[in-house]
Amino acid sequence: MTFGRFFLPGPTEVRREVLEAMLRPMMPHRGRDFETLFERLQTGLRAVFRTARPVLVSSSSATGLMEAAIRCAPDGPVLALVNGAFAERFAQIARACGRETNVLETPWGEVAPLDRVERRLAARRYAAVTVVHSETSTGALTDVRALTALARRHGALCLVDSVTGVAGAPLEFDAWELDFVLTGSQKALALPPGLALGVASEAYMRGVRERAPAGRGLYFDLVEFEAFALKHQTPNTPALPLLYALDVQLQTILAEGMEARWARHAAMAQATVAWAESAGAGPGLGVLAPVGARSPTVTALTLPERLQGGAIVAALAERGWTIGNGYGKLRDRTIRIGHMGDHSVDGVRGCLGALEEVVG
Ligand SMILES: *Cc1c(COP(=O)(O)O)cnc(C)c1O
Repeated sequence: MTFGRFFLPGPTEVRREVLEAMLRPMMPHRGRDFETLFERLQTGLRAVFRTARPVLVSSSSATGLMEAAIRCAPDGPVLALVNGAFAERFAQIARACGRETNVLETPWGEVAPLDRVERRLAARRYAAVTVVHSETSTGALTDVRALTALARRHGALCLVDSVTGVAGAPLEFDAWELDFVLTGSQKALALPPGLALGVASEAYMRGVRERAPAGRGLYFDLVEFEAFALKHQTPNTPALPLLYALDVQLQTILAEGMEARWARHAAMAQATVAWAESAGAGPGLGVLAPVGARSPTVTALTLPERLQGGAIVAALAERGWTIGNGYGKLRDRTIRIGHMGDHSVDGVRGCLGALEEVVG
């Protein structure tokens, strides 16, 4: 298969060179060669997250580090900002981990207005706020920098799911003074699924060490993750083939440069929005997320009555193109295009051209 026809908002398309890296032989994960590899991965990952902190590497899907973020957060209630399916999952995880969880609900597609968040934070002392940076079910992008600053003023940590943010949308862990950010391998990093990557601030980690939140468990204990990362190791056997793939992919990402990568994603999103608003898309097609809150990595397109999401996705598949169905309660009324990872603006235009044949 040639590269460039798979626009699912996760897992995303993986280049052959990256897939082939997974064929390397296994190595002991308690030896010098592994430590050299891990150290090299750290250099690349720190550049991706824009941090000097260790980047925690978990051989789990991204949800694993969402659970870790909750389990290790200081004891106390959680305020969950819910504006889509993944934000709702974060709230469910908090409840499942035994946290008293209050929800601030925003219509799907939108982002929580800061003044509404502020009123909730002023009314009650929360241990943590959960938020999704780029809500993959709707294509909405939240300003996590402003949100983290707001949470801090009210004594709460901000836990950021940036699974379709990191490596596609601008994010600066240190400069924005974020508390906790996680991503997964299979979205804007354009790797196969199975790795979760995260960064916790010094303040967050101090909290875990000093207050040892009840029930933080063992497998997702971030104290363990950090202690091993500082020795260039992981607490348990890592998914070595995925680390080999990450190694190759990080070289490509560093060669492109984060600013260029962010600009490419912004341009792919812009091409998608411009097409949706053009005559070619036909009447009634729209972009779900409002101007100013649109993700550069995924766009959810709203459909007019005459069009049905599943039929569009199937017609595109017949033409050799893959895009995403709507997600959750938006399943029939939207379609989603994942313009992230290693795709190009021209590639996205090719996909939109095929889409135009189907809906125009
Ligand atoms: C894909 C995704 C997840 C879940 O990731 P898994 O790797 O399936 O656990 C969580 N949040 C967002 C925003 C996502 O896009």
